[in-house]
Amino acid sequence: MHPKSAAKKKNGFRKFWRLGMEDFNTQMFDISPDGELIVKEGNFQYNIYDIVKKYGSPTEIMFPTIIENRVRDLIETFNAYIKILGYRGKFAYHYAMKANQTKEFVLPAVAEGANLDVASANELFLVKRMIEQDKFNAKIRVICNGPKTDKYMSLVEELKNKGLVVIPIIEDFSELERMQKFKGEVGVRVNLDIKVQSHWDKKFNRFGFTEEELIKIGRVKGLSTLHYHISKQIETIDGFVKPLKRALALYAKMKEKNSGLDTLDIGGGAGVPFEKKKHFYTGKSLISKIVRTAKRESDKLSIRHPNLIVEWGSYVAVPAQITIYKILTEKNVSAKNHKKWYVIDGSFMNDLLDTWAIHQKWHVVPVNYMNTKRLQPVWFAGSSCDSDDKYTAGGEYTMLPRLEDCEELYVAFFDTGAYQDALASHHCLLSSPAKLVAQNGEIKMARRRETSEDVGKLFGW
Ligand SMILES: *Cc1c(COP(=O)(O)O)cnc(C)c1O
Repeated sequence: MHPKSAAKKKNGFRKFWRLGMEDFNTQMFDISPDGELIVKEGNFQYNIYDIVKKYGSPTEIMFPTIIENRVRDLIETFNAYIKILGYRGKFAYHYAMKANQTKEFVLPAVAEGANLDVASANELFLVKRMIEQDKFNAKIRVICNGPKTDKYMSLVEELKNKGLVVIPIIEDFSELERMQKFKGEVGVRVNLDIKVQSHWDKKFNRFGFTEEELIKIGRVKGLSTLHYHISKQIETIDGFVKPLKRALALYAKMKEKNSGLDTLDIGGGAGVPFEKKKHFYTGKSLISKIVRTAKRESDKLSIRHPNLIVEWGSYVAVPAQITIYKILTEKNVSAKNHKKWYVIDGSFMNDLLDTWAIHQKWHVVPVNYMNTKRLQPVWFAGSSCDSDDKYTAGGEYTMLPRLEDCEELYVAFFDTGAYQDALASHHCLLSSPAKLVAQNGEIKMARRRETSEDVGKLFGW
């Protein structure tokens, strides 16, 4: 074939599988001349097919470089717009640890300047570990969300006494009462009376105080931060603007009685283009709109521009991991339905629980045979014996090479970096996948695939 037309053909496949596209967070992904999935990190390159042949499947592969790039980019973009627009508050990024507490996710984020947001005593315990191992300097700030158990509060005190800035966010009246004794900065969480279009449209929100309650409370000892967290995977930029305006109005009122209040923490919820089909807002457009809105509204309210905090977890963590399965076999969906079930050597209910819990949609590509033209529509079945262990792309389908054309076929689920690992379970006592780290041109085994002994132990055997 003429070299030019070979390149064109390759571009066609790359586009078809949505690789090499910044808008879809796949800029590091590409296809090798042999039709295999590769990941490029600067001038390093990882061939995913070679990796799974060596390490087996199911396997999760983490890319700390993606975390680093996203955190750096996020902080730089906020600071750039703050400067361009003449915003007078400061910006701080707090990585929401609950998105992924894996060491290989948290440390790269911290290295790039992330502060932290923890949701439990055990997450804060990991922060203590990091301090004890001299993993970070004492300038880092830690926001503490979630119900404050006694264990949680004593850890807060302990770390504060070690010189760390630990800011508990008060969520209810009992915490407000107990925090009277706390000698340090605190925040309060407001449950804004507002709904936005998101993947998490809950009718009732049980976190934080209502706006009326906060106004009635008036003064809060040590208050520096007003916090809200609306939802996850917020679908439109307007879903950030509306709550921000509302929170700023409340902030202005609370500021009258709390002169130390100087920070607005707008929580998580920044979305990522999981589906890679239609246009999704970019981080840049979102950040520019947030800073613009904060400036305009603060000026309208005649208040000093508050410092801004975001606690975006998914935004940073989601694209930094892929999950690889082997296709074990195929079955007909039904006599009338021409789709095939592709049975994977892992489980959605165990490894990618959101598939089942919130009908998460995933971008799936083959790991080998990527430049095959003959494809068929498939649904995926997990290898637990549960009929809910499946992925049907919301009743649609995924196009993949035909098994009869392949010696063996592996598939990669993209964007599995957030929430799935902490939710993972052992239905039918299946083993959790191996975890690999790809960085600086090397592959390291972070956690080996569980053996039968490992799994048995979890259940007292
Ligand atoms: C879960 C959570 C986050 C992170 O949410 P993402 O949607 O993953 O960005 C941030 N802040 C709070 C309080 C949370 O509960």
